[in-house]
Amino acid sequence: MSAPSSVQLSIVIPVYNEEANLPVLFARLYPVLDGIGRTYEVIFTNDGSADRSMDLLRAQHAARPDVTRVIDFNTNYGQHMAIMAAFERVRGEVIVTLDADLQNPPEEIPKLLAKMDAGHDYVGGFRLNRQDSLFRTYASRIINLVREKTTSIEMTDQGCMLRAYSRAIIDAIVRSGAINTFIPALAYSFSGNPAEVGVKHEERHAGVSNYSFYGLIRLNFDLITGFSIAPLQYFTMFAGLSSLGSFALVVLLLVRRFVFNLDRETFGVFTLLAIVLFLLSVAMIGIGLIGEYVGRTYQVVRARQRYHVREILGS
Ligand code: UDP
Ligand code: MG
Repeated sequence: MSAPSSVQLSIVIPVYNEEANLPVLFARLYPVLDGIGRTYEVIFTNDGSADRSMDLLRAQHAARPDVTRVIDFNTNYGQHMAIMAAFERVRGEVIVTLDADLQNPPEEIPKLLAKMDAGHDYVGGFRLNRQDSLFRTYASRIINLVREKTTSIEMTDQGCMLRAYSRAIIDAIVRSGAINTFIPALAYSFSGNPAEVGVKHEERHAGVSNYSFYGLIRLNFDLITGFSIAPLQYFTMFAGLSSLGSFALVVLLLVRRFVFNLDRETFGVFTLLAIVLFLLSVAMIGIGLIGEYVGRTYQVVRARQRYHVREILGS
């Protein structure tokens, strides 16, 4: 079917301070891949780890040079930029992303591949036995709702990075040159025939998550502003309605005061103060939102090199 040098499957794994997880990851991942019976490559991006992760990756490259490639960033650029750098260099026909902390069991990869073989160009995993706090569960339910309403991207579980993509989608992502992006959503927007499949979910094997609560909020803000201008439109509508409301309120107050001669003592200061504060806050939300879009435009226009690679193992 394909030339001997071609690669059928590329596995992409971002690595940030995962020295405690990498040995177990190697021990579980490679046997699974060897067992699938396709030609494959594993591309790790070391995202500026401060621990021994790079040494471990180097050793793994020495042990399996035929199927292992390592991209070494000079510093930490974040999970999605690390995946992006790997996407720009993948050779496979099907690309699978995976976390290094073993929350996505490598044993589930064949499940995704089966779906891809069935003709889908994008297969998203969602965690079956998700073990999250009640707060986290509700937070993600609300986030999902907001995202589906504003961006028409349907995704059961945005927290699951175990996903498979066709080569065409990866090429489209690379061409888009996106910054601050949430890759699964971008992929979804390019997909013609997406599917989802339930995958097992495990506790992080070692260490703690690199995402703070703030990081999650940031991610979703990127997601919504990155994929739609709905916030701007909602804002405009809301501003219109609220100024109508404020105007009606002012008329009401005037009528009560001067037609019915009520509110002689309280009319004035406090009512006006409340109205002014309200309008001011609306205006500030608007400025913030505009700033968000201007900021993104600035980042794209600036066209600065998005990351710097120190070294690549495995051509
Ligand atoms: N990661 C990365 N750069 C970062 C943060 C995380 O490459 O700045 C990697 C990390 O090593 C892991 C994956 O991204 O392979 C997911 O990170 P984490 O487990 O911290 O996130 P969570 O599972 O909580 O979403
Ligand atoms: Mg994790």
